[in-house]
Amino acid sequence: MNAASFILKGDLCDSLDRERLRTVPDGYLVCLDGLCAGAFSVLPEEYHALPVIDCSGKLILPGLTDLHVHAPQYAFRGLGMDQELMEWLAANVFPEEARYADLAYARRAYRDFTQALTRSATTRACVFATVHRPATELLMDLLEESGLVAFVGKVNMDRDCPDDLRETTDGSVAETRRWLEETAGKYKRVRPILTPRFIPSCTDPLLDELGAMAAMTGLSVQSHLSENRGEVECVRRLRPDTAFYGDAYDRHGLFGSHGRAIMAHCVLSSDEEIARIRERGVYVAHCPQSNTNLASGVAPVRRYWDEGLNLGLGSDVAGGSSLSILRAMADAVQVSKLRWRLQDDSLRPLTVPEAFWMGTAGGGSFFGRVGLFRPGYEFDAVVLDDSRLTAPRPLTVAQRLERAVYLSEDRDVVRKFVQGREVSLPS
Ligand SMILES: [Zn+2]
Repeated sequence: MNAASFILKGDLCDSLDRERLRTVPDGYLVCLDGLCAGAFSVLPEEYHALPVIDCSGKLILPGLTDLHVHAPQYAFRGLGMDQELMEWLAANVFPEEARYADLAYARRAYRDFTQALTRSATTRACVFATVHRPATELLMDLLEESGLVAFVGKVNMDRDCPDDLRETTDGSVAETRRWLEETAGKYKRVRPILTPRFIPSCTDPLLDELGAMAAMTGLSVQSHLSENRGEVECVRRLRPDTAFYGDAYDRHGLFGSHGRAIMAHCVLSSDEEIARIRERGVYVAHCPQSNTNLASGVAPVRRYWDEGLNLGLGSDVAGGSSLSILRAMADAVQVSKLRWRLQDDSLRPLTVPEAFWMGTAGGGSFFGRVGLFRPGYEFDAVVLDDSRLTAPRPLTVAQRLERAVYLSEDRDVVRKFVQGREVSLPS
């Protein structure tokens, strides 16, 4: 698992820019001490002595980033999909999340989640846990062991949820502080991120305290924003003092003014809200499958793209039923076509290279220089054996990538490298 220097040989594909793929058939991807030294069609002399890992005939992609996923919800993925957000939270999410007070249950469930994430093409993730500190620390331990890189958040909730999940304001703050103390400096690859669930489940005093923590520590923040009509209505009722939903985070310093912020969804964001997102450099985690399952709608991602917002993809398990970010790329393209056809023909559909960029370089940039095969980028790479997807004629690497987006499965991932270390894939 030590970062080493080596060469991956195979059919390389990453983004040339936001609109175009770059492919290097039968190319050489050089890793020097955990960093990428470049992708080459002819291996430069200076690297001739490095060991070669021969993956000829296989696709080699940058690792994928899941910018928004709920670890405890993996347990009920694919269940309870016939409700909208607020009813779904009450009927499915809260009863399941209450179980994570039991560490033995959390261990079983989080092991399953970590194994599935490790088995997938994802190398980096921003993960919600639950309100429970011990289970959150357990999840961080498991993710660290896996070799993936992750931000993990202990969730904060002090209102509008069942008694067995609701924290007191003081209790939520105290447990968050203790969580940060207990995990400080403990991990190489896993870091904490402040995680107020969303405005409906957090009182103003709690948000003030979290904002103060963000200001003091510079920690990043993850939450939900303008996802579903019922939720946006609820925020309007609860926070008449705010100009729009995102303003409710911003007033407490939780919208990118201290640490960075990721807001999932942004399906129903107003012009004012979008302007604030841009101004603060907030990351939008686009979660197309979840937005479909929970009948939230289709986010105007083409607009966010054109306006240059920070954009990545999220599985949002279990609003989304699949952990696959390749699947999220296909979903992003498909829902953008529905929005274009049915709702707003001024917003052109996304293309596969654009969705690929979001799932690699776009989301990856939240972690630094991640998601491209460029010199100086962290060496995250996924080797996909796409031979299962047969064709009677030769396909280009770009065509094979497109088919992988639509058709590949976790079992096609045959090797995976994060920061130059090979991750062992669960069987
Ligand atoms: Zn979510």
